[in-house]
Order: sequence, then structure tokens, then C-alpha cells
Amino acid sequence: MSRTPSVGANWKMNLDRAGAEALARDVCDRLGDSPGAEVAVFVPFPYLLEVGRVIRETGSAVRLGAQDLSEHDNGAFTGEVSTAMLLDCGVQTVLAGHSERRHVIGESDQLVGAKARKALDSGLDVILCVGETLEQRQAGETNAINERQIRAGLEGVSPGDMARVTIAYEPVWAIGTGMTATPGDAQNAHATIRALLASMFSSALAQETRIQYGGSVKPGNAGELMAQPDIDGGLIGGASLNADDFRAIVRACP
Ligand code: PEP
Repeated sequence: MSRTPSVGANWKMNLDRAGAEALARDVCDRLGDSPGAEVAVFVPFPYLLEVGRVIRETGSAVRLGAQDLSEHDNGAFTGEVSTAMLLDCGVQTVLAGHSERRHVIGESDQLVGAKARKALDSGLDVILCVGETLEQRQAGETNAINERQIRAGLEGVSPGDMARVTIAYEPVWAIGTGMTATPGDAQNAHATIRALLASMFSSALAQETRIQYGGSVKPGNAGELMAQPDIDGGLIGGASLNADDFRAIVRACP
């Protein structure tokens, strides 16, 4: 089964308006209209319209993504952003449960699941991010944590909607730290996640679902990671702020 790799650029809370516009233009120009992988940029909310305009102007296949969403439709939720608002800005895909939202902001597994369902019900694609902390890894809990987060994150998601779900396995200790899981460790975690998806849905569906790796992926380590049979692209933070590095990572996908 061949899965088209998927690579996301998570810009986090970086850049200003001019910088976001310039980076979007560089990414679109460098990748051209057939990047070889499905590519999305996850842009700070205030710059979504600007970056969407650049994507349209350049005729790029890059997809417009948001870093978070509200689980509510509308109403008295000061500071939150609804899926209707995201769709209005041209957003196609959204992150749910990025580790910084789980571990810095304090989002629960249940909230992440509600957000994933809201995204899918609204017609957005979703990248469900999961992964263990260093403490959990040292306690041998990697697979149990991934299972708990995936079961809660996909609760109520139908097999039909799974075509619009990508899982991002991102060990928390590897995000933004310069430390990366070895390709073998990452492959083991991905294969275990795929087996879990097979038990939750079906083996055919598990074979079709893309599982990205995230955590200090750089041009220098991308080739070996992306060559693993169960790694289907990456979610890239720091290195996605440099268009050349990001392009090199996209090109490293088989
Ligand atoms: C991320 O933000 O999802 C991420 C993996 O960041 P970094 O590549 O900087 O570790």
C-alpha cells in the first residue's frame, strides 16, 4: 500500500505579518506546484488570510492550515476561533492536540477529541498529535500513552471520516529540543500505532492512514526517518521557518 507522504510546517507563535507573507512565498516558490508530498503550512491565526492569498497567487499546491480550533460552534468564548471562521479564511486542515497545547496550555485528551470531531464535522482535515513525555518514555509508557491519546482523540470518529485524519507521532522530549528519536525507535512507535488503528478500525484503514513523525526533524536526519516503512512524512517546527530547510525535508520523503 503506498501512502502519499504528508509534511506540515508548524510555524507556532513566530513571525510577523511581513515575515509570514515572505516565508509563505518562499515555500510556495521553492516547492512549485508538485511538491511530491502533500504539504500544509500551519499559520498563526492573524496571518491566515495573508498566507492564503500568497498560496492562491502562486498557484501552489500547499494547503492552508490552522494550529488550533474551538470545540464550540460560536458564542461567548472570548479568544477562541471557530471552525466556521477558519473555513471562512480558506483553512483546509487543522492541528488538534499539539504537545504544546496539551502540556503547556493544559488541554485534556477529551478536549482534543472534541476538537478533532468538531474539525471533521465541519469538513476540515485534522492532524491528531500524540506522543509521550521523557518521564513517560523512561517509565516504558510510550505505547500506552499513544494508545490513550489516540483512543480519546478518535472517539466517535467514523471509518469514513478517518480518510481526513493524519496522526502525528511527536515524542514531547524531541520537540524543539534538538533531540530526535532514532529512526528505529520512531518506526517501532509508528508500527504500534498502525496496529492500534487496525484493531480500532480495520487493517485496510490502518494501511491507508498517514502517520507523520515530529520532533527536531532537520534536513540532516529527515532522509533516514522518512525512509522508515511506517513513517509517512513529518510535522516540522523549527526547521519549517527556513524555506530551504523545509524544502529539503519535503524532498527527503520517498
Ligand atoms: C512541532 O512543532 O510539531 C515540532 C515537531 O517542532 P520541532 O520540529 O521544532 O521539534
